[in-house]
Amino acid sequence: MSFTLALVGRPNVGKSTLFNRLVGKRLALVDDQPGVTRDLREGEARLGDLRFTVIDTAGLEEATDESLQGRMRRLTERAVEMADVCLFILDAREGVTPADEVFADILRRKSAHVLLAANKAESNASEAGVYEAYGLGLGDPIRISAEHGEGMADLHAALMPLADAFAERAEAEAPVTDVDLPEDDDELEDVDTAPRITRAHPLQVAVVGRPNAGKSTLINKILGEDRLLTGPEAGITRDAISLPIEWNGTPMRIFDTAGMRKKAKVQEKLEKLSVSDGLRAVKFAEVVVVLLDVEIPFEQQDLRIADLAEREGRAVVVAVNKWDLEDEKQGKLAGLKEAFERLLPQLKGAPLITVSAKTGRGLDRLHDAIVRAHEVWNRRIPTAKLNQWMTGMLEAHPPPAPQGKRIKLRYITQVKTRPPAFVIMTSFPDKLADSYKRYLVNGLREDFDMPGTPIRLTFRSQA
Ligand code: GDP
Ligand code: GDP
Repeated sequence: MSFTLALVGRPNVGKSTLFNRLVGKRLALVDDQPGVTRDLREGEARLGDLRFTVIDTAGLEEATDESLQGRMRRLTERAVEMADVCLFILDAREGVTPADEVFADILRRKSAHVLLAANKAESNASEAGVYEAYGLGLGDPIRISAEHGEGMADLHAALMPLADAFAERAEAEAPVTDVDLPEDDDELEDVDTAPRITRAHPLQVAVVGRPNAGKSTLINKILGEDRLLTGPEAGITRDAISLPIEWNGTPMRIFDTAGMRKKAKVQEKLEKLSVSDGLRAVKFAEVVVVLLDVEIPFEQQDLRIADLAEREGRAVVVAVNKWDLEDEKQGKLAGLKEAFERLLPQLKGAPLITVSAKTGRGLDRLHDAIVRAHEVWNRRIPTAKLNQWMTGMLEAHPPPAPQGKRIKLRYITQVKTRPPAFVIMTSFPDKLADSYKRYLVNGLREDFDMPGTPIRLTFRSQA
C-alpha cells in the first residue's frame, strides 16, 4: 500500500500539468467517463522509484450553481480528507495571492502533511514569488516547473521520507504512525476529553457489502423516498457517486457503491469499477458501514472489506440487514456477536447494529452509531490524562521483563486523530510483548470509551 498525494491550489497554478506529468497515461478509468465524478481526478503516479496515487482537484470548469470559491474550498477539503499528503502549488510568477492564502489556511487546519511547491519556476522572473512562499509557514517551497519537468528530483526528495513512513505503516502488523511528537504538549493539555466533532463538512459515510446485502434499499430508505437511485430514465439521473443528505439532522455524504455498480452495467467500460469500488469507498469514507445480510453474514468478501476499512484507519460500524426475516432474533444475535469477535478481532469494540432497510427498523440506532463512531474517531485525549491512565495500567500489570530486563514505559501522548494514534516512549520498544501491547490498546479503548474506531499505538525508543 503506498500513499495518496493530493495536488491542491487555485486554478491555473499548474495542477493538471503536474498531474499529467506524474501520471502519464496511467489515468484511473473512472475519471474520463461522463456521469461519473469528474471533479477529482485520480491516477497512478510515478516519480523515480516512487509509486503513489495522485489526486487532482482541477476539475473546476464544470458549471454548477455553486460559486467557484465555494466549490474550490469543498473540493480541496475533500481531497485533503482522501489524501495522506497534500502538495500545495503556487504560481511562483504571481507570488502569493489572497486566494492562495485561503488554501493555505485550509491546509494548515486540515492536512497532516503539507508540502509546498512553487511552480513555473523555470525563469528568473519567479524568484520573488518563491521567496514570498516562505512566508506561508508551510515549510520551504520546492521549486518546480511542471511544464518543463524541472525540480522533479527535489519533489522526489521531499516525498521520500513520507513514502518511507507510509510504507512502514503498511508493513507493520500494528500500523505505524508517521507523525512526529509535538514538541510542546501544552496545547494538548488544555483540551478536555469531551468528544470533539470537527465537522466543518458533511460526515462521509460509505455503505459497503456484498451484492444484494441491501445497500440500495438502505440508502433509499435513508433518503426517505422510494425513488430509484440509478437508471437511464429521465428525471432520475444520479451522476454523483456520493449523495449529500441530511439524516436525522446530521449532514452526511453517502458513498453509494451499489449505484456505481448499477451504473457500470449501463456503461460497460466501467465494469472494472465493481472490482475497486469497495476500495474507493473506503478511501472516501470517514465511517464505513459494513452491511451484512442476516441470511449469509460474514462472507469472505464482507470480512475482506471490513479488514480493509480497519487497516485504512476508518471508523467502522457493522450493520446486519434484513433483520425482519429473522424469527429467532435473540439466538441469532448471540451467534452473530460470537462470529464477529472470532472473525474480526481487529474490529473489537465496533458496534453491531441490527436493521431492516426494508421496514426502516433500527435505522435510528444505525445513525447514532455512525455519529458516535465519527466522534470517537476524532477524539483527542489530553496528555496528562493519558499518563495518569498509563501509571494505573503499569501498576495493575507491569510489563514482563524479558531476560530479567525491566522495560520502562516513560510517557504516552496522542499524536494524531482520525483515527486516534498514540505513542509511548519506552526503553526497549522491540522487546515489549504483543500481549502487553494488546493490553494497553484494549485499556485505551475501554477506559477512554472508544468503540468503533481503530486505535494506533506505537512505541519509540527513549532510554
Ligand atoms: P490548473 O488549473 O492548476 O490545473 O493549471 P494547469 O495545469 O491547467 O496550468 C495552467 C496554465 O499554466 C497552463 O497554460 C499551463 O501550460 C501553464 N503551466 C503549467 N505549469 C507551468 C510551468 O511550469 N511553467 C509555465 N511557464 N507554465 C506552466
Ligand atoms: P444491494 O445490491 O446491496 O444494493 O441490494 P438491494 O438494495 O438491491 O437489495 C437486494 C434485495 O434484498 C432486494 O430484493 C431487496 O428488496 C432486499 N432487501 C433489502 N433490504 C431488505 C430488508 O431489510 N429486508 C428484506 N426482507 N429484504 C431486503
